[in-house]
Amino acid sequence: RRKWKRVVGVLKELEESCETTVGRLRQVVDAMAVEMHAGLASEGGSKLKMLLTFVDNLPSGSEKGTFYGLDLGGTNFRVLRVELGGQRSSFDRDVAQQAIPPRLMTGRSEDLFDFIASSLQHLVEKGNDSEQSPIIKELGFTFSFPVKQTSVSSGILIKWTKGFAITDMVGKEVAGVLQQTLARKGLNMQVAVLVNNTVGTLALGHYHDADTVAAVIIGTGTNACYWERTDAIIKCQGLLTTSGGMVVNMEWGNFWSSHMPRTSYDIELDAESPNPNDQGFEKMISGMYLGDIVRRVILRMSQESDVFGPVFSSLSVPFALGTPLMAAMHEDDSPELTKVARILKDDLKIPDLPLKARKLVVKVCDVVARRAARLAAAGIVGILKKIGRDGSGCIRVGRTRSDTKMRRTVVAIEGSLYTQYTMFREYLHEALHEILGEDIAQHVILKVTEDGSGTGAALLAASHSSKS
Ligand code: ADP
Repeated sequence: RRKWKRVVGVLKELEESCETTVGRLRQVVDAMAVEMHAGLASEGGSKLKMLLTFVDNLPSGSEKGTFYGLDLGGTNFRVLRVELGGQRSSFDRDVAQQAIPPRLMTGRSEDLFDFIASSLQHLVEKGNDSEQSPIIKELGFTFSFPVKQTSVSSGILIKWTKGFAITDMVGKEVAGVLQQTLARKGLNMQVAVLVNNTVGTLALGHYHDADTVAAVIIGTGTNACYWERTDAIIKCQGLLTTSGGMVVNMEWGNFWSSHMPRTSYDIELDAESPNPNDQGFEKMISGMYLGDIVRRVILRMSQESDVFGPVFSSLSVPFALGTPLMAAMHEDDSPELTKVARILKDDLKIPDLPLKARKLVVKVCDVVARRAARLAAAGIVGILKKIGRDGSGCIRVGRTRSDTKMRRTVVAIEGSLYTQYTMFREYLHEALHEILGEDIAQHVILKVTEDGSGTGAALLAASHSSKS
């Protein structure tokens, strides 16, 4: 009995150290807005890099013609062609996707880019657009690795991530390498834009809805970008664009604030990661890590009590519990928690856990997912606050709050955490409403886009086309 109390104690302690009261979330909102300012003020001024993208216009829906997109850096590699008829609704798409063969991820850049160019060649051959056509085909290239952007269509690779390691590419101008390969293959195609995946998501969101001001991705990792006025980008004096604005890539996965509720599990996870002290926000909210936080808590519980039987070695294996399994346990609504029992038995090799202990496991998932979703919501409101869309700066027309004039504000969102994990999504919405208040929150819409990183790049090629 005493031992059972200890397990309950572990849960209680977790709940307390994961607390995200609305007051605390508002402090995170403020910290996000402050860090955004700092990152825009000077290079290295904040944990938020606030990278310039040189994307100074977003697709509006009036674009016309055939454009290509290429998406490298997500789970899959994609090439696609869009046919744009000049109206939002006249939009046609052809996509081909495949996994990058692992040997190409660590080989020579020439082999990787040859492979990419061949996929594009295939796509061109499949379409009506003749390969020999004298008209140059324009391509949007989404390259989701750290890049120091030098113009809208060029940038230098800082380092590889996600298992890629092609050393001869680091320090090279990425679009240039692709451009040379395309020329060598005799493809009359030009890289019109080079972007990060969140920028593609924002572009696709804006193509469908002109009130879209920011984009957020919560998948394996997490990042966000938004539309900023150039005069607010202080670190780049004299930056002029016709639109007066530019998309800023926040790299928000690296955000950190002392107001974020942090547990001993987070500290351990960070210390054991290949990038300690890095990507603090990402380690609390994205798919790569949530399951592992839960695993660490269950491990602690099993060390505290024999309710879980002997300490199971499978629980000590990092990343033994993936976030999809965590979600499946969390969302098990069977009275006997049969799914939880199955996952514990099959995936963590913990058989015969009593029902009351299985309930505790579900509760752990709930605490970890809820904290993640609420922090993500605070991040989103932080962006809205920075651009004056959180309702705090609005003019009150009448005496009541409902008279407040608040512009409709859309945030494009992608990633499996939001689209596949229902509880996560619901907690995120709930927190948005708590932080903003109903009157403001009703004007803030999160809209799911699909394959923004690929399609958005093609749309940006259209809106930045040299032909228009
Ligand atoms: P990307 O790898 O391009 O970010 P996704 O947006 O699909 O792709 O995100 C994948 C991440 O989402 C993985 O970390 C995975 O663990 C997590 N994930 C996938 N499906 C689910 C689910 N149903 N519930 C919770 N997490 C999920």
